[in-house]
Amino acid sequence: MDRYIRQIPIIGEEGQKKLKKAKVLVVGAGGLGSPAIAYLAAAGVGKLGIVDGDSVEEHNLQRQIIHAGNVGMNKAESAKAFVERLNPDVEVEAYPFNITPENVVEIVKKYDVVVSCPDNFETRLLLNDACKILGRPMVHAAIFGFEGEAMTIVDTPCYRCLYTSFPKADKTSTAVMGFTAGFFGCIQASETVKLILGMEVLRGKLFRGDLRAMEFFEVEIDTNPNCPICNGEIKEIIPENYKN
Ligand SMILES: [Zn+2]
Repeated sequence: MDRYIRQIPIIGEEGQKKLKKAKVLVVGAGGLGSPAIAYLAAAGVGKLGIVDGDSVEEHNLQRQIIHAGNVGMNKAESAKAFVERLNPDVEVEAYPFNITPENVVEIVKKYDVVVSCPDNFETRLLLNDACKILGRPMVHAAIFGFEGEAMTIVDTPCYRCLYTSFPKADKTSTAVMGFTAGFFGCIQASETVKLILGMEVLRGKLFRGDLRAMEFFEVEIDTNPNCPICNGEIKEIIPENYKN
């Protein structure tokens, strides 16, 4: 408990035990996933699952700071090595491949909370659908430049309610400042810890922030009656429905 002596006055020993019992899945060990993983591990989350099929490249290190020294290594494995150095109390399972419609249900159902940190809309939608179907909370964030957004989806409007159309983003051209990823990844770690502790989170609210203008605000999100997840049209993950 010595390791957590600075946070126990805030969350109590009971809170620390809740964290120890929690199983959190982080999908994507990139810009958002790196800080989320680091702070969840540091806080003493008992089990972390980390999913990422990519390898560390030099241009990732501008923001993905947990991968320092690991260029060429798979990101899930690299993140696991980081967590084991930072906090040996945390059990880590690395999934060194991408989440797909075929494997998403089996992986997500092993965890209590999903932290969504991919770099594309397709994976966010897939995670959103799997989490809603399995009844798992999902902590969403996305970033661009100096700006980002975050939302915690529990029994509240979902990611599909938020966006009715999805542009085809080219991830290699997605420009971002490293600290924007750090800021929003930390919000995801914070939301996840608060969920585990039963504290109030960004439920039904989209948080938006612009670190250049230093403007931050929240938007109330309504359930979209045409959302096929929230209106019950989609009841299971059928891989054919996720093929382009
Ligand atoms: Zn919805």
